[in-house]
Amino acid sequence: MNNIEANIKIIRKRIKDACLRSGRKPNEVKLLLATKTVSAELIKEALVFENNLIGENKIQELSQKFPLLKNENVAFHFIGHLQTNKVKDVLKYASCIQSVDRIELVQKLDQRLRFEWKGIDVLIQVNTSYEESKFGVSPSKAIELAKEISKYNTLKVKGLMTIGLFSAEQEKVRKCFKLLNDLKSQIENLNLPNFEMKELSMGMSNDLETAIEEGATIVRVGTAIFGGRIYPDSYYWNEQAIIK
Ligand SMILES: *Cc1c(COP(=O)(O)O)cnc(C)c1O
Repeated sequence: MNNIEANIKIIRKRIKDACLRSGRKPNEVKLLLATKTVSAELIKEALVFENNLIGENKIQELSQKFPLLKNENVAFHFIGHLQTNKVKDVLKYASCIQSVDRIELVQKLDQRLRFEWKGIDVLIQVNTSYEESKFGVSPSKAIELAKEISKYNTLKVKGLMTIGLFSAEQEKVRKCFKLLNDLKSQIENLNLPNFEMKELSMGMSNDLETAIEEGATIVRVGTAIFGGRIYPDSYYWNEQAIIK
């Protein structure tokens, strides 16, 4: 058994155990492979174990790997910060954008989608840890943004996404996930057009159990499957942080 296969087995077990502990069915939680910096070759090794969901953070990486993986029965989600000038490109590859967090981006997406006569699934990214270093709409503005998005029928909102606080103290991390779940219910109750609030994308290598206990339907796992990365996460989460 190679490393990737062994690692995926461990992750599946962790997902299953967390589901059983919290009275949920293991098939309620999808595993998304967070594949930033991982080569197409290694991603292929992971795909033979019934993983068909890939998340990429950068358009450039996505555009390089896409041609090598597009025949593999996979869906690509975009999970990184999306600049408005990359909207046209992301729509070539992604079936879902998990990082919609501001109205300018919504407008640009809508413009391009109408031009292409199509729609796309999106999640609204919320900054539940209130850290400046992270993207996402602030929790106090999430409802307002949801209402705005509902005016654009090219965007099919399927739920919410967050990156929890980085902390070894799971109770602090849990607060972030609870907040996201709470916002999901609040938005659900508004019955907005084009909204189907079924997904909560939260939980990564270090906190997926807590996320599942708080209702995650998609966990995004990178390190625990593919090993460590050479770039710090700030490179992916906030470009300004390293340019400074
Ligand atoms: C890298 C990344 C992940 C995976 O994080 P790991 O700690 O490597 O599991 C999840 N979500 C987003 C948005 C990421 O950028």
